[in-house]
Amino acid sequence: HVHISLNIRGLSQSSTLAINERSTRLEREGRKVFRMGLGQSPFPVPPPVVEALQANAHQKDYLPVRGLDALREAVAVYHHRAQGIERSANDVLIGPGSKELLFILQLCFYGDLLVPSPSWVSYAPQAAIAGRQHRWIDTRREDGWRLTPEALDAVCRADPDRPRILILNYPSNPLGVTYSPEQLLALARVARRYGLVVLSDEIYGEVHHQGRHASIARWYPEGTIISGGLSKWAGAGGWRLGTFTFPPGLRGILDAMAVVASESYTSVSAPIQHAAITAFSGGPDMAEYLARSRRVLRQIGPAVAARLRAAGCDLDDPEGGFYLFPDLSAFRERLAARGIHDARLLCERLLEDTGVAVLPGSDFGRAPAELCLRLAYVNFDGTRALAGAASLDDGA
Ligand code: PLP
Repeated sequence: HVHISLNIRGLSQSSTLAINERSTRLEREGRKVFRMGLGQSPFPVPPPVVEALQANAHQKDYLPVRGLDALREAVAVYHHRAQGIERSANDVLIGPGSKELLFILQLCFYGDLLVPSPSWVSYAPQAAIAGRQHRWIDTRREDGWRLTPEALDAVCRADPDRPRILILNYPSNPLGVTYSPEQLLALARVARRYGLVVLSDEIYGEVHHQGRHASIARWYPEGTIISGGLSKWAGAGGWRLGTFTFPPGLRGILDAMAVVASESYTSVSAPIQHAAITAFSGGPDMAEYLARSRRVLRQIGPAVAARLRAAGCDLDDPEGGFYLFPDLSAFRERLAARGIHDARLLCERLLEDTGVAVLPGSDFGRAPAELCLRLAYVNFDGTRALAGAASLDDGA
């Protein structure tokens, strides 16, 4: 259409949100839908954080573009507590969801954008909207779908001095995998060799199932921007609060992003920012809440993976987050006999015929050769009941 910007033409609404809306439509028509499409936290917002929001409902003023001083301070302290990383309030930028901050980063960053594939649905469309190119780095099932230092090195070696940014997300949506300290150290060495900026998307860091999340910033502090927020570990996706934490040497990028923020959303909702201070400040209530969340995820994730393996899918147990990425290649012939030749069509038919809402693996970056699905295992009724239960029996 002549009135639509060239950057947007051909893009459609994010597939995770689209499947959610479609599921709702089917439910309204009286169908039973098993919602394994959108990955939403099943956990309630921790009560002390809700109380802080209620106590701050009267906050009505615009706040500083970069975020409330006390919240930026709390985020800096949080990173020190969680990862031993030294940051100050001046290194933190608060935004309306980390998704918006990731988008603004793409508007501001000068240089090449490297994105492992498969990876989160929105990185590439955001690049397209921002009018920039990106380069996929394929990962493989036999490497556990992890980016290898060799693959990263191979991309950078051809032109070692080019400015580049690498987006690395762990625990991963859609893959459910994370990186060990040794693997992060090896990637950090390559990143340092080529002076990469690493955008470390750690939005699922606190829902590492064993509570052992490590940030690549520990090994590459000078080049790592940490992306986080309330959506996944504080159950507050709809509150829209994300955080970027920069190394002092990259504060120029923060300043540029603050310019865009000031000319677009101005500042994040005032009551939400005040309440977020409670979440980031931690304490026994938050620790107990997170321990319980991890216990629930540890029970459900591996159990669902085991059932899928028993049924003939190829996948590992999840290590963090809410997702599984089963490979259904073993079913190719049987599916082809029913006219199903790709993951997208498989998802259509699953939803139509069985009410199971899942997403095609091919929506997550460059389509892998395998026939993969992404399954969010936290949103069906049983998980929600477990997540909301007052007590949880470890053996259950
Ligand atoms: N990054 C990843 C990998 C995600 O899965 C999501 C949410 O689905 C986001 C970023 C964005 O989260 P938010 O904008 O709610 O902070």
